[in-house]
Amino acid sequence: MSDLKVRFWGGARTVTGSRHLLTFGRQQLLLECGLFQGHRDEAEQINRHFPFKAREVDHCVISHTHIDHCGNLPNLVKRGFTGPVLMTRATEALARLLLLDSAYIQESDIRYVNKKRRARGEPPREPIYTAGDAEHCFERFQPVAYAKRTRLGKFTIHLHDAGHILGSALVDVEVDGRRILFTGDLGRRKMPIVRDPVQVAEADYLIMEGTYGNWTHGDYREVSDRLAGVINRVAGRGGRVIVPAFAVERSQELIYNLNRLRRENRIPDLPVFVDSPLATRVTDVFRNFPQYYDEEATTLLNGHRELFDFDGLTYVAGPEESKALNQRREPCIIISASGMCEGGRVLHHLKHGIGDERNCVMLVGFQAPNTLGARIAAREPRVRIYGEEHELRAEVVVMNEFSAHADRQGLLDYVGRMKLNRLKKAFIVHAEPEAAEALVEPLLTLGIREVHVPEPGDEYEL
Ligand SMILES: [Zn+2]
Repeated sequence: MSDLKVRFWGGARTVTGSRHLLTFGRQQLLLECGLFQGHRDEAEQINRHFPFKAREVDHCVISHTHIDHCGNLPNLVKRGFTGPVLMTRATEALARLLLLDSAYIQESDIRYVNKKRRARGEPPREPIYTAGDAEHCFERFQPVAYAKRTRLGKFTIHLHDAGHILGSALVDVEVDGRRILFTGDLGRRKMPIVRDPVQVAEADYLIMEGTYGNWTHGDYREVSDRLAGVINRVAGRGGRVIVPAFAVERSQELIYNLNRLRRENRIPDLPVFVDSPLATRVTDVFRNFPQYYDEEATTLLNGHRELFDFDGLTYVAGPEESKALNQRREPCIIISASGMCEGGRVLHHLKHGIGDERNCVMLVGFQAPNTLGARIAAREPRVRIYGEEHELRAEVVVMNEFSAHADRQGLLDYVGRMKLNRLKKAFIVHAEPEAAEALVEPLLTLGIREVHVPEPGDEYEL
């Protein structure tokens, strides 16, 4: 029996709630501590109670700051975890913002749940974690630079740029002469701002994401043409472009792209508003980590170009300023959170703008089923916003080209460049079953001896 094991507790046959537990002898290393996102009751159960003992976990490594990868850290610490949480410096800076934001959402969600429970005569519930719990977990953070080896007990960890979002990392684990490569979320080549993923040459075991295992993305270079086309069309008919966008990476990528289109005179100089306090703070983190930029962004910066500021761009501050945007008559672009239209200021922009056929709602990120964003993407004729029905008359543009994940070919190319005769087992995680299964045959064909799509709770010897 092997003394090294991996057990998949989340992100197994689903894209959410990543957590994979490596055990060597009595030592436990947790890869990721993500929040599970889904139907309220199911998510509540999975997120509140860990299937392992938090206090028995010795170390934790976080690949990047998306909430499905780091969002349950405050609860892990609350439940007794006292070890270090390893991550890059940019991930640390972003996690501090994102986890506090997540805590406020948990606190306001529970107020809503408790109102209903009170009406049914049931006792109130505690939030899964509070802002105080989030602050407490920050004390466990151990930021490291890429390319620096770190010892965590018997494990040696090496983080490489995964090219997915700012600070994202591939996690290279060495233990007892064996090497395990965990991809986290693997980025695409030629994305703006972030660098291309670092190619790791070899490993004995591979834990790989497979979000787009059955999908081929369009060419990223077409993003700017399509973006310019939409903006010119909408501005030409006197409308506004409303862009629900995730506060991390997608908002900065849009600002960066709009800045370039303006510089190249490919769009008219209409006002652009970034209306999300979180996106504004996240953009400040981007400004603070120029050492993580790719060559193009670095060259622009060295030429004293601002990446995230240009004439006509306003970072909207308070809620009054945000509401005042509804009174404007001229064409403009509004970038606002949340990305799936489930909350945040984008809701009042949609409420005021969705009924006007001159306007456009541009969806630039993944829309989970049953969200308002998914209903808009499906062009349902009437949608509910703040409990009221609204006619959807605005144009709807879905731009999947923005995805920050490697697609099927990107994933296979990455593995194909590794030393294949060393790879003993590959595990596909962070994917819906169809996407994960679609990668099994091609990976076996590459010569990997075993390829698995684990179920939640499955354990394998390494
Ligand atoms: Zn991600």
